[in-house]
Amino acid sequence: MLKALIDLNEIVTLKGAHSKEGRHLVADDLSIIKDGAIVYDESKILWVGETTRLPEQYRNLAQSMKGHVLTPEVVDSHTHIVFGGDRAQEYADRLNGVSYEEIAKRGGGILYTMKQTNEASQEELFQTACERIERLHSYGIGTIEIKSGYGLNFEKEFEVTLLIDRLKKKYAPRIQIFNTYLAAHDVPKSFQSSADYMAKVVIPLLEKLAPLKVIDAVDIFHEKNYFTADDVELLFNKAQSLGIACKTHADELNDNDGAALAIKHGALSADHLLKISSSGIKALAGSQTVATLLPGTAFFLGKPLAPGRALLDGGAKVAIASDYNPGSCHCDNVLLVASMSAAQLKLNQAELWSGITLNASAALGFKNQGAIIPGMKPRFSLFKTESLSHITYNWGRNFAVSLP
Ligand SMILES: [Zn+2]
Repeated sequence: MLKALIDLNEIVTLKGAHSKEGRHLVADDLSIIKDGAIVYDESKILWVGETTRLPEQYRNLAQSMKGHVLTPEVVDSHTHIVFGGDRAQEYADRLNGVSYEEIAKRGGGILYTMKQTNEASQEELFQTACERIERLHSYGIGTIEIKSGYGLNFEKEFEVTLLIDRLKKKYAPRIQIFNTYLAAHDVPKSFQSSADYMAKVVIPLLEKLAPLKVIDAVDIFHEKNYFTADDVELLFNKAQSLGIACKTHADELNDNDGAALAIKHGALSADHLLKISSSGIKALAGSQTVATLLPGTAFFLGKPLAPGRALLDGGAKVAIASDYNPGSCHCDNVLLVASMSAAQLKLNQAELWSGITLNASAALGFKNQGAIIPGMKPRFSLFKTESLSHITYNWGRNFAVSLP
């Protein structure tokens, strides 16, 4: 159905950012139209401009949206939403001075979430995931990447990937879900090595799932004491032979050339990058692979942030995501994460907003969204406030409202 919205205080088109592929952005690349109007149908944007210039044939459809700001849809391109239980007590214990080693000895950490996820029924996991998705959507987030990875055995990982597919079908097209296969999240103790787990679970399960056409990308936790470069090569080569895109958790705990390996395989994104080397930064800057920063995780763990400014100045495409998960970042609002980290990462407004719209869409391989330009998909976020600056300024306050 054709819709025409007029009198919008601002339409943040990101046209400038789009024409620069999301790199080397200056504030003007927000390309804001004041007192804007837009016309769109279910599949694409037809017209955008100043309200006074709205073409005659759309005038009878016009709905006034005075007091609102329209942006490209906010995207959270890195979440771990499907999990059982929570780790609130563990976080309190950590704040109270209990060490990681002690928490692990008590059975805490990711293995606790693995146990809780395996004990939860499919219906429980589905319902809690739905509640989380609705909450994200209430903040104005309309595209959400969801990773599997807390089952950590053949049967449960299979079940969780199909569960994410069920979520995808339930919410489309209102909320767009991207299904990432992260069976290679950690190596359960019952396996001799990461290679053993790859051979017995990760690769055979990927081969079983691929024909079902439910996986949008594979992902792997490429870190010392987790998965090796050989494991990454094995997974990415297999995924590529099956026509599935690749993403990676890279250079978070140590620099192991994770970004370079991601680029070699044309990965959609390399995520975390707290410890990325200067050669890694240079490589990302010269590639199409998106550098995804997850500052909420660094905040939650009390660690320094990734070298965001160096990545941006180098010319990398930088996205910001929440990393919403039960252990290392239990924050579900990527708008809050981006707004509160902007000053520390030294982001200008165009970099901040591209990071959670245009570049976050690129991190999921969605080329036709992330800017408000005729011909692109009509995926927007709407905020009841007077200007874009008010959203970032009031970080943590929710201005999002539903589209009429
Ligand atoms: Zn993650």
